Amino acid sequence: MSRNPRYDILFEPVRIGPVTAPNRFYQTPHAIGAGHQMPHTRAAMREVRAEGGWGVVNTGYCSIHPSSDDAPLPYCRLWDDEDIKVHALMVDAVHRHGALAGVELWHGGSGVANRLTRVTPMSVSGISYDLSYPGWISLAKSRPMDRQDIREFRGWHVDAAKRARSAGFDIVYIYAGMGFGPYQFLLPWMNKRTDEYGGSLQNRVRLMREIVEEMKEAIGQTCAIAVRFSTDDLLKIPGETLESEAHEIISMLSDLPDLWDIKSSSWTVETASARFSEQGAQEPWNSFVKPLTSKPVVGVGRFTSPDEMVSQIKRGILDLIGAARPSIADPFLPRKINEGREDEIRECIGCNICVSSYHDSVPVRCTQNPTMGEEWRRNWHPERIPPGDPEQSILIVGAGPAGLECARALGQRGFAVTVAEAGEELGGRVTIESKLPGLATWARVRDYRTNLIQTMGNVDIYRGSPLSAQDVMDFGCDHAVIATGAQWTREILSTDGYPISGFEGDAVFTPDDVLAGAEPEDPVVIYDFDHYYMGSCLAELLRQHGNEVTIVTPANAVSAWTFMTNELAEIRVRMIELGIGTVFEHYLTGFSDGAVQLASIYRGSDISSIDCGSLVVVGVRTGNDRLFQELSSDADRIASAGISTLRSIGDCRAPGTIAHAVYSGHECARNIDAGDSIQPFALERPRL
Ligand code: ADP
Ligand code: SF4
Repeated sequence: MSRNPRYDILFEPVRIGPVTAPNRFYQTPHAIGAGHQMPHTRAAMREVRAEGGWGVVNTGYCSIHPSSDDAPLPYCRLWDDEDIKVHALMVDAVHRHGALAGVELWHGGSGVANRLTRVTPMSVSGISYDLSYPGWISLAKSRPMDRQDIREFRGWHVDAAKRARSAGFDIVYIYAGMGFGPYQFLLPWMNKRTDEYGGSLQNRVRLMREIVEEMKEAIGQTCAIAVRFSTDDLLKIPGETLESEAHEIISMLSDLPDLWDIKSSSWTVETASARFSEQGAQEPWNSFVKPLTSKPVVGVGRFTSPDEMVSQIKRGILDLIGAARPSIADPFLPRKINEGREDEIRECIGCNICVSSYHDSVPVRCTQNPTMGEEWRRNWHPERIPPGDPEQSILIVGAGPAGLECARALGQRGFAVTVAEAGEELGGRVTIESKLPGLATWARVRDYRTNLIQTMGNVDIYRGSPLSAQDVMDFGCDHAVIATGAQWTREILSTDGYPISGFEGDAVFTPDDVLAGAEPEDPVVIYDFDHYYMGSCLAELLRQHGNEVTIVTPANAVSAWTFMTNELAEIRVRMIELGIGTVFEHYLTGFSDGAVQLASIYRGSDISSIDCGSLVVVGVRTGNDRLFQELSSDADRIASAGISTLRSIGDCRAPGTIAHAVYSGHECARNIDAGDSIQPFALERPRL
């Protein structure tokens, strides 16, 4: 297929200082959870984007000096010459595919705790951010930088830039955004200096200007110098001659850098989930930049639609289409557009599971792309998969995310695949959950897979086909895969964490009941000890239906785990705005006489109760594994039916997130002919 001429503009080269990007697809710097210690993993995770057509591929944040240490979070570094070869591995991998490689040099200022290096953090005036999330609170406050520190700070940037050039990078960043080092100098509430680096805007910008100038002088002949800059804070400060200080700074430095990379100062805003933001939501922070510079401008916006990308360029908002998440979900997005295969784009759903993996300090995993992070250690490619035996037949029972991904990947391998789905609709939980407020994009997990499957001649799907064990055996297949999902239970855990019963009456509901249309009577209490999205989404849904809702949880926040997906604060705001009541740090111990009984998690003797007409329990899911158990308990009959392997995958095997289910389906498809034991994978090893 050939490219739609409507998208030609996306494939124009863009000059960036001394280098030229082959097209407008720009993988912006973003953390991938494979820091300095995992060079092979990191190189492969970046290379796959270059192979997939991204014209520029950047590192994540790369520390320039031990005074900027973000441990235990995974960052990369260029502290001395020994660090160069770790980066050269990635640069060479990116260059193999004709893309430019960029490095995001970074100094965290007071935004780091230096837990590993124990160097006293330093910042513009010794003012540290008020971080109130327990994992991020730093007890090591920063000291103000003196003139000598500032000189050294500039020198560290230049030294790191020279090392970056030695590693082969084409684009070298100075990071003046997101609350980090040079950005702190710009903010009047952080910068209280009375010397030439504080006070007037000219003075506050001085450090940023000096670093750009010095880096240009040192490496500007061969490398482009990019500035990563946050505008949202500065847009709120009126400028002397222009609308805001953000406008003033861009016009002061205008053509000094070779590229402006614009982003929000808050990571939770920058990477807002689809539940709380639309594609292109960053436009208010970057749309004013282009008229103030002749240099190219890049920004993100969770862009997955080529039409929206074209619109961003034609409307003069951006020159380069920046992407982190869309490039994780589909490293081959540019190539698919180039080859007229837009229908095959694996669109990011904006769930932020990728963000949670960075917080977990593990290589980024993605709900849509199960191969992300597995490129090197498992040798998994997002588009290619080893062929299988077309003579082998496989029956998959259940067409949720696990069953559909398994069918798609097995179909791609060439096996003869049949999928039996009990319901009339495909997609299992994503079809149901995408009807929850804010989760419509989650249906993309289903749509990407069904779109591809319907083009495959070797995959048949039967709807309205609930299979029994006898049906599976009668069907006659070489391999049977059971993907029958999970269900929510009414199980409640005691204060010691053990299941307790007694919550079975008509007024007790599960999320499955509510999603199937049950109408709980007021007042509704949602007891949430699942801690992810379901409790707050149901509260929102019931509120839309006019219910009076209170969330009770043993945690100290609504949907407490969403701290990991950067959604916690947004969820809290929404609960407040909707008038949803909250009771934190309490166990539910009983439900009788129109009230639930609660006990404090700290002092069990502190008992209270609140009125409750209906109780919705959001806590424990259990796999629908009856079919699998029935089949696996009779190995002889399975064998005589000609079934050589029987597997369970996804939520049926062990309930988890959608990302777990997709991964499980993919892994099964890769290894269906390799035995059921856990397959070995390569390990990164420190050099001794
Ligand atoms: P997962 O996340 O593991 O893919 P889901 O719950 O999303 O799990 O999907 C499981 C699917 O399996 C549902 O669409 C459900 O209708 C289907 N299913 C469950 N039991 C059977 C069965 N016995 N025969 C066919 N389909 C089934
Ligand atoms: Fe997008 Fe979710 Fe994948 Fe992140 S994990 S890239 S938000 S689909």
